Amino acid sequence: MGDDPPGRNHFRASVGQQHSHHAESSPQKPTTVWVPIGGVDKARELLTKTLGYGNCKSAIQQLFSQIADGTGFAARHTDVLDLFDAMTAQTGGGGILVDLLPSQLNDHLPAAGRVAQQPPGGGGLSSFFYSSGHRERWSAVWLMGAYSDSQRSAFDRIPFSYAVTLIHELAHNAPNDGSRLGRMYEHDEMDAAAVKLGSTSFDQYVKEHCIPQRYW
Ligand SMILES: [Zn+2]
Repeated sequence: MGDDPPGRNHFRASVGQQHSHHAESSPQKPTTVWVPIGGVDKARELLTKTLGYGNCKSAIQQLFSQIADGTGFAARHTDVLDLFDAMTAQTGGGGILVDLLPSQLNDHLPAAGRVAQQPPGGGGLSSFFYSSGHRERWSAVWLMGAYSDSQRSAFDRIPFSYAVTLIHELAHNAPNDGSRLGRMYEHDEMDAAAVKLGSTSFDQYVKEHCIPQRYW
């Protein structure tokens, strides 16, 4: 299983906020405000918009090609939007899963694909399973949110974090299915490709090319 980017599910204002309250009232505890992507179609829109930023589309294509070259295992698609569409076109239970918490993963997978352990946190998770002998790939992007007392910037950053996570999870499932052995691209392979292209890690490369710096 290729697991999770170092994404943060919560963004917290770094400076403590002052809650003025009288002795008789209990302090207001901040609650998590979840900010869903809004479904798979919205995730595709977010991906399209992200790829339209600067040289993002060609940079990601180059990165996926580099991963394929480095591993010696060809990608199904180096265009991440084509890959997204191939993932969602599967009919045996694989696909793109959004707006769910790690604890809800198995509710979104058919029996054959269920995971034995509660997934770790982070930004998302990707894997595959077999349905009637057919390989089904899935990539999940966990629901993100911010605390109710977070600064606005914490909320503004969420769509960009979703975009980086989505591209990261799609990369895990980019290998083609031409061979009998199921294959994922792993973190060390993804990071090595980014380093080869002058960055420090896969996620950092995606940020450098696809996300305005103020949202990193
Ligand atoms: Zn990962």
